[in-house]
Amino acid sequence: MAVFVAMPLLARKGAATSRLPVDVTPLADLKRRRLVVYENLKDLEFEYQAGKIAAQDYQSLKQNYLGEAASLMAASQEAEHLKEADAVLEREIAARRALRKNLPPQDYVCPHCGFENPLPVKFCGECGARITDRPSIT
Ligand SMILES: [Zn+2]
Repeated sequence: MAVFVAMPLLARKGAATSRLPVDVTPLADLKRRRLVVYENLKDLEFEYQAGKIAAQDYQSLKQNYLGEAASLMAASQEAEHLKEADAVLEREIAARRALRKNLPPQDYVCPHCGFENPLPVKFCGECGARITDRPSIT
């Protein structure tokens, strides 16, 4: 009998995951999946209280869900960390682009190949020639 109870619990979780919209961020997806796991846990608790699940099945299902919740939590923290690193990089690039606006072209346009580097750089991103700190020529 426990099998009949356990199956819909697992199926419910799988169905929710497959209905994932494409534009959802990995972090939002992880949070949503964690909520689904918690919902399943709540249902499990309810069905156990109602006497629909044997104690042994309840325990093993609960451990499954808790394990899944823990790994989703870990993945979330990882994603959060990556998002933070991305934000730092974005700010750095924005700051450099803002800086470039106030710079003369010779600070980012390569004197060697003429490549216009997107950011003020010391060396040309195209040919590797030195850009800044070069003796100024008029
Ligand atoms: Zn160059």
